[in-house]
Amino acid sequence: MKCPFCGHSDTQVLDSRVSSEEADTVRRRRRCLSCDKRFTTYERVGLALPSVVKRNGNCSDYDGIKLRNSFALALRKRPIDLKEIDSAVVRIEEFLLISGLREVQTQHIGKLVMNELKKLDQVAYLRYASVYKNFETVKDFINIIEEIHNDSFKIEN
Ligand SMILES: [Zn+2]
Repeated sequence: MKCPFCGHSDTQVLDSRVSSEEADTVRRRRRCLSCDKRFTTYERVGLALPSVVKRNGNCSDYDGIKLRNSFALALRKRPIDLKEIDSAVVRIEEFLLISGLREVQTQHIGKLVMNELKKLDQVAYLRYASVYKNFETVKDFINIIEEIHNDSFKIEN
């Protein structure tokens, strides 16, 4: 990618995100390593977001609103800004776009959501996990609470 100001061919990517208007376009903020000017490029990925394959094998188009709703449901009444949900959704979409996958299993998306929730809010993570992992016994909850507890213990130390 050549710098539009000085023509230098080495640029550093400062930030990449999926364009909010067009989900198949990745917007990158770049910095020229020679003249230090900043510019933005829009890259269209050859593939759009992958189709989503459900547990029963049915395939449907990727649905960003559905993903946002899962976050909103898990984070209901939790002190989390909507902007943080948006960023989490963007990170997942970006990951899926860049992966170049044509199909993705719902379980895989579920795991990505869990990873994001784990960072955002532990209560929401627990809520989502209980539905997603189909908890049936109190022991299931105890196990995941221990997992969360051990993780935060690791971070503190
Ligand atoms: Zn330059």
